[in-house]
Amino acid sequence: MKNRQRLGIYIHIPFCVKKCAYCDFLSFPATKEVQEKYMSSLESDIKYCVSKYGARFDDYIVDTVFFGGGTPSYVSPQLIAGILKTLKSEFAFDENPEISIECNPGTIDDEKMRVYAESGFNRCSIGLQSVQDDLLKQIGRIHTFKEFEEGFSAARNAGFKNINIDVMSALPGQSVTDYVNGLNKIIEYKPEHISAYSLIVEEGTPVYEHPESFLPLPSEDDEREMYYETDRILKKAGFDRYEISNYSKKGFECRHNVGYWERKDYLGFGLGASSLFENVRMKNISDMNKYIGNAGKSDLYEDIEILTANDCMEEFMFLGLRMMKGVSSRRFLKLFNKNINDVYAEPLEENIKNNLLCKYRDDSGESWYCLTPHGIDISNTVMADFML
Ligand code: SF4
Repeated sequence: MKNRQRLGIYIHIPFCVKKCAYCDFLSFPATKEVQEKYMSSLESDIKYCVSKYGARFDDYIVDTVFFGGGTPSYVSPQLIAGILKTLKSEFAFDENPEISIECNPGTIDDEKMRVYAESGFNRCSIGLQSVQDDLLKQIGRIHTFKEFEEGFSAARNAGFKNINIDVMSALPGQSVTDYVNGLNKIIEYKPEHISAYSLIVEEGTPVYEHPESFLPLPSEDDEREMYYETDRILKKAGFDRYEISNYSKKGFECRHNVGYWERKDYLGFGLGASSLFENVRMKNISDMNKYIGNAGKSDLYEDIEILTANDCMEEFMFLGLRMMKGVSSRRFLKLFNKNINDVYAEPLEENIKNNLLCKYRDDSGESWYCLTPHGIDISNTVMADFML
């Protein structure tokens, strides 16, 4: 049997009940009718892609699928299950795939979680963000903490043994004590995975356009403290930090996201979805009418970038250094037929000297480069040194 390469699949569901005040993702409210049309177009998009490029997927086996958004749990669970069924009939699947769905409290119930579990989903990611109802309201979330509790129980009752909770820090009006208490409360639910991000004020969002309505934002010192507390509290609770913002119990790292950071090939379907396939990055159109009008009839890419060898090496470093284990010299050599030291001698040496990177050997003798704690703090600066 030939050794097939791993392939990830991302499905974008762009619908949300209401736009959150900080959100710059491709997401918006839509009627049931639009949702149904979209889901049907998504199916046509997948089938068209396989009928046109299917021969190129013969060497691949799907080992992760991720339904993200938006709020996938906002649309009918039967339509979601239908798309997963289509994927399973169009692609060869690994016998133990990770199949994730993003869910938001207020849009989850027992019936939905049961349909997901029965159709093959085995991981769910719940967007809680904060345990405080006043803060949730302030940032425009549609749900309360109680609705999160109900959704979490629904997921467990349906049999989900791999649950992520998203949590945000540096929210308007949030104190360090609020955040610490909230994080401790979240741990009590015993999720297998926690993604912890701080609020980023993105241009074009209400938080950016009307800052006066979102005061007071925590000071830089408080923001830093929340960031350090995340690491301290989660490690103490038995979570392993495997990526700058992601913590998991042993064996529960998100395989799909690790695939992004390791630059494994993935196909994205749906509005605005991105793909990386054989060193070509593609992005789908973001216009809903064009998407629905053309799905199943033509390619839907609005952007195609053929990566050069240098682009690939840069991405290998930027993305790989996000993970705590860092980047492997052996893998670099295997992928690029070049020694990492011949390409990056200066930034490696300089960052090691400044205690921002460190070099270590694993049990097999393979050498790796990873960020130090200080390097994590200023990771963007370190990564910029690897531009060629
Ligand atoms: S639920 Fe998520 S995707 Fe939807 S508006 Fe809020 S932050 Fe954006």
